[in-house]
Amino acid sequence: MSLSQSSTTTVHEDVPVSLRLSRPAINAQRINDTLQLSCQWGATPDGGMNRLALNDDDALVRRWYIEECVKVGCDVTVDAMGNIFAVRPGKQQGPPIAMGSHLDTQPTGGRYDGILGCLAALEVLRACHEAGYETKHPLAAIVWTNEEGARFIPSMLGSAVWAGVRSLEFGQSRVDEAGVSVREELERHRFLGVTASSHEAIPLKAHFELHIEQGPILDAAAHPVAVVTGVQAFRWFEIKVQGRGSHAGTTPMHLRHNPLTAFCQMALSAEQLAVQFGGLATIGRVGSLATQSTNCIIDDIVFHLDIRHHDDDKLDQLEAAIRESFAKIAAETLGVRLASWEALTGSQAVKFDPFAVDCVRNACKPYPKEEIISGAGHDSVNTSKRCPTAMIFIRCKDGVSHHPSEFSTREDIAIGGSVLLDAVCRYDSAV
Ligand SMILES: [Zn+2]
Repeated sequence: MSLSQSSTTTVHEDVPVSLRLSRPAINAQRINDTLQLSCQWGATPDGGMNRLALNDDDALVRRWYIEECVKVGCDVTVDAMGNIFAVRPGKQQGPPIAMGSHLDTQPTGGRYDGILGCLAALEVLRACHEAGYETKHPLAAIVWTNEEGARFIPSMLGSAVWAGVRSLEFGQSRVDEAGVSVREELERHRFLGVTASSHEAIPLKAHFELHIEQGPILDAAAHPVAVVTGVQAFRWFEIKVQGRGSHAGTTPMHLRHNPLTAFCQMALSAEQLAVQFGGLATIGRVGSLATQSTNCIIDDIVFHLDIRHHDDDKLDQLEAAIRESFAKIAAETLGVRLASWEALTGSQAVKFDPFAVDCVRNACKPYPKEEIISGAGHDSVNTSKRCPTAMIFIRCKDGVSHHPSEFSTREDIAIGGSVLLDAVCRYDSAV
């Protein structure tokens, strides 16, 4: 008997023979109840969540999650970034088909962002175990460390180290506001695994992620589920517009060097150009390095510009058009200049694996669905660099996330779980 056969036998021996080899199905009651149960760690009185990466509540929910995975026959590996890989053996040995997301939340987060994906993965494992269903390839549930970036900057840190986008040294040395490092917290909670955090040490056959949409498209369309075909490219800039402060009462309107006047035109222009190029432009932070006073013309304006597009070339064009427009506005505003334009961060557009996406598309067939290019980053952006990856979105109320009022219905959660299970099974039998 080969190793894989013996371990497979072990997995199923506590399952009644009558239940073995039946088709696995998501238990709608159980997936919802377990999701809510897992929110006891980090719950806030307003119904939301505050479970920052690697804090005490995060450690508790991770420990519980591992125990639940072990109960359905998983072998658990924790890597050097604290990423959790719970693997249920398949008929064959080799890299698992993974279902991953995150359990950490924003400080004023909700109960579904990330949590849904991890709990749906657990439900898929439970459903397979209960049915005695043997997949060809091993299946894995993954908890990626510090996806939110709310405690340790940047976001998607655990998956970035696994994918080789960031070094282990970088990942472990990130510190929170109190100066506590990722490595110190991993040690304190005994989540500092001995296995290297890398796609070479822990290869994956594929990665599927179920997530709430975090946007209003599905809610507006009244559709429960979406096939996610990729993730938009984005770029962040810090831009400084310099003018000259002067007295509000003594400086005539036509002789002012007012950076705020130029900034207002820039803000409108960025929005118009985004619409023209089919992208997005947002100015989410505005301030000034100068001391402000009611009766003074302000000295400078400093703001952050976020631009996005699903096509890298189109994003290049949008950026070029915005640069040209801002330069023109500054040149046409008396005494005002663009003092600096600094690139802060960015990411290229991601196109998910066509076959994995097709598996999701086919799994969505029973439901009214949308096709969406994600506007937000996810761990799947990192996994897509190392293995075939696809995502599923479910509807969330009013498109709200990162807020205690974040909400998805029990029905939509069950649909999301069923699509995840079906997509994974389709992929498993085809590769
Ligand atoms: Zn998330």
